Amino acid sequence: MYNEKMYDLGTNGCCIRELSEYGRARAAVVGPENVYDFSIGNPSIPAPEAVTQTIRQILADTDSLAIHSYTSATGDLQTRQAIAEDLNKRFGTDAGPEDLFIGCGAAPELCAVFKALAVPGARILAVAPYFTEYQPWVEGAGAEFVAVPADIPGFQIRLDAVEQLMTPNTVAIIINSPNNPAGTVYTEQTLRELAEVLTRKGQEFGHPIFIVADEPYRELVYDGVAAPFIPNIYPNTVVCYSYSKSLSLPGERIGYIYVPKAAEKAAELMTCIAGAARELGHICAPSLWQKVIARCAHLRPDLAAYDRNRRALYEALLEYGYEVAKPDGAFYLFVKAPGGNAKAFSEKAMKKDLLLVPGDDFGCPEYLRVCYCVSYEKIIKSLPIFKALMEE
Ligand code: PLP
Repeated sequence: MYNEKMYDLGTNGCCIRELSEYGRARAAVVGPENVYDFSIGNPSIPAPEAVTQTIRQILADTDSLAIHSYTSATGDLQTRQAIAEDLNKRFGTDAGPEDLFIGCGAAPELCAVFKALAVPGARILAVAPYFTEYQPWVEGAGAEFVAVPADIPGFQIRLDAVEQLMTPNTVAIIINSPNNPAGTVYTEQTLRELAEVLTRKGQEFGHPIFIVADEPYRELVYDGVAAPFIPNIYPNTVVCYSYSKSLSLPGERIGYIYVPKAAEKAAELMTCIAGAARELGHICAPSLWQKVIARCAHLRPDLAAYDRNRRALYEALLEYGYEVAKPDGAFYLFVKAPGGNAKAFSEKAMKKDLLLVPGDDFGCPEYLRVCYCVSYEKIIKSLPIFKALMEE
């Protein structure tokens, strides 16, 4: 006797991971150089050299017991202090260690935040296109998942739809900027207008409506575009940050949750988040990595390689006649499927060993996601395939 819902989730895996597993198997048959696997957002630039040096320093100057022992449940004080200082320097915030919870990456952080906010009957909105896993995470927290339709082709936020979908049970809206899968960045104007709607609706319903800002790509922006720091626009924001993409550390499972002091009942919310993380068993993030972040919170990625890929792919796809969302951030292009059926197009591309994720599970079935966190050579070698698919 097992939980059928879990069986279902285990059987119908995440579409990204399924395609990536297919790519791995296919590479074993035809050779990795012949598979154009643009399915998964695994960073293709190494972690900064300073991270490697810091690990060596920690191993040399810290007692081995201390390196590997449990930290406090909310995270090492020094780590939280270092992150707070970095946030304050960059965004003029008044963050202190008490406003931070060190998590094992954005995934469990988001699960804890959803659980902390999920009062009985709670509804949580997510702006499409959205990360595929939000729905199981929200539902796992016991809340109702409601998709806000995408704003095509600009991929900002349809505020009319947000407003329409809000009920007194709405406790939060998830936004992700720079966006996976669209590669777009929400403008300050979009965020201010969203803040206005949430403030007005919160007053009408008599409780705050939180923005859950999923921010693994915060530093991955190009051409001088800035990703506004959302708590400075709307204080009832919970930031879920991860070093998976910015420092190329997805396998290490490290990030943080930040609740600004100005959020309503901020201290109580932090306690609820700690309680939710406790119930989920996601406490004491990896100790060595907390120590690394305590010394590396100020590091930023060198985006030159991603930017080169982005330009080469974007320019070529436009030239072949594809419609592509303006790629200001993250490492994804969101491409309208010629013919309008992304699943059918993805299957056609697969026959040529080009792996593109159809947008259905992102809430955008006419679009395909192309991850350009691969080698430049792979991008260049894939271009004739994109061209041939368009001509077909
Ligand atoms: N949110 C978004 C939008 C993502 O793209 C990802 C990973 O790709 C995650 C959350 C999960 O990130 P993490 O590796 O930090 O758990």
